[in-house]
Amino acid sequence: MVMKWIEDDLRLIDAQQRLRALNPIDRRVGMSVHSQTHALCLFSSNDYLGLSQHQAVRDAVSQEAQRNGQGIRGAALICGHSSAHEALESDLAHLKGTENALLMPTGYQANVGLLSALGTEETTIFSDALNHASIIDGCRLSKAKIRVYRHRDMTHLEDLLRTDTAKRRVVVTDEVFSMDGHRAPLVELAKLKESYGFILITDSAHSTGVFGTHGAGLVEAAGITEAVDFQVGTLSKSIGAQGGFVATSTSARTWLLNRARAFIFSTALPTPTVSGARAAIRVMAEESEHVESLWNRVTQLCKALRIPPSGPIVPVIVGRESDAMTLSASLWRSGFHVPAIRPPTVPDGTCRLRIALSALHQSADVDQLIAALNDNRP
Ligand SMILES: *Cc1c(COP(=O)(O)O)cnc(C)c1O
Repeated sequence: MVMKWIEDDLRLIDAQQRLRALNPIDRRVGMSVHSQTHALCLFSSNDYLGLSQHQAVRDAVSQEAQRNGQGIRGAALICGHSSAHEALESDLAHLKGTENALLMPTGYQANVGLLSALGTEETTIFSDALNHASIIDGCRLSKAKIRVYRHRDMTHLEDLLRTDTAKRRVVVTDEVFSMDGHRAPLVELAKLKESYGFILITDSAHSTGVFGTHGAGLVEAAGITEAVDFQVGTLSKSIGAQGGFVATSTSARTWLLNRARAFIFSTALPTPTVSGARAAIRVMAEESEHVESLWNRVTQLCKALRIPPSGPIVPVIVGRESDAMTLSASLWRSGFHVPAIRPPTVPDGTCRLRIALSALHQSADVDQLIAALNDNRP
């Protein structure tokens, strides 16, 4: 029997019309999927370059699975670290322009492990107001004082830095913010670091593979690689796999693997996933057509919506929660999966559709989405 307080809480969520449910979505080809009722074109995935489907990735995953099976059988510090893991870490360090990298079971755990390890009682962590939930949770789990600065507001951050006397200071930001697609002011952050001397962490989840000459992300595009102490990342978005990492110096990596509990007490990545991620990184380096077609779709959609193209996450601000939900539902019926984003994920009154583009979208998919949006807008 379900405890009464769970039923009460469920009723509360339901009364707020915030009850979420899982919906089975099965893949077909490219961005075309199947829900339980009908076919959909996915405008909600993080597979920006389509590499989860690439033939070289499929081959790498299946060959490794045949060779070595599935699970890795232990945490990395016990028996779960292989030469394949080591090679992927070196690929990631090479991509990110750092000395080394440490794999993590997920991007979520990368932030939680890093921030909770850094955030001692003598530490202040300065965090952008719109940082990802995994950064917020890492801050909460730490013993540090947390100062939240207004979204991308460097004057506010500088005020907070000026008046803070903590021995150790950490500034953490998403490179590309997950709900708006906004870019962080990385050059300004690097300048502030010169004046105030803090540890700088950037999260490249939505930035890797999309920005920078080598696809290393906005840190590369901004030319501030040297200024960033920890580049957090995920393998689950542009790299099309699963898992997280922290790219950093060799000594910081050693410190991290001794201190980050989210790393120490969790099983390492399966080697088929590791091999698939390595293949995807090779494809990223060798085939520029994926990122090119992604940006073609971004330009196409943003032109139609009359907004500047800033990246593959394109928010369509609707305002009222009920309007956003209705619009998303009518798009679903028309064959487009575009989620509505509402509080607590975004502030009241700024409910939106969050369109995510991919190299796997055809130009016609985007045209049809634009037509459906125009037909259904409140
Ligand atoms: C998705 C995301 C994560 C979490 O990565 P996972 O590998 O999916 O756990 C962390 N940070 C940001 C900014 C993200 O968007």
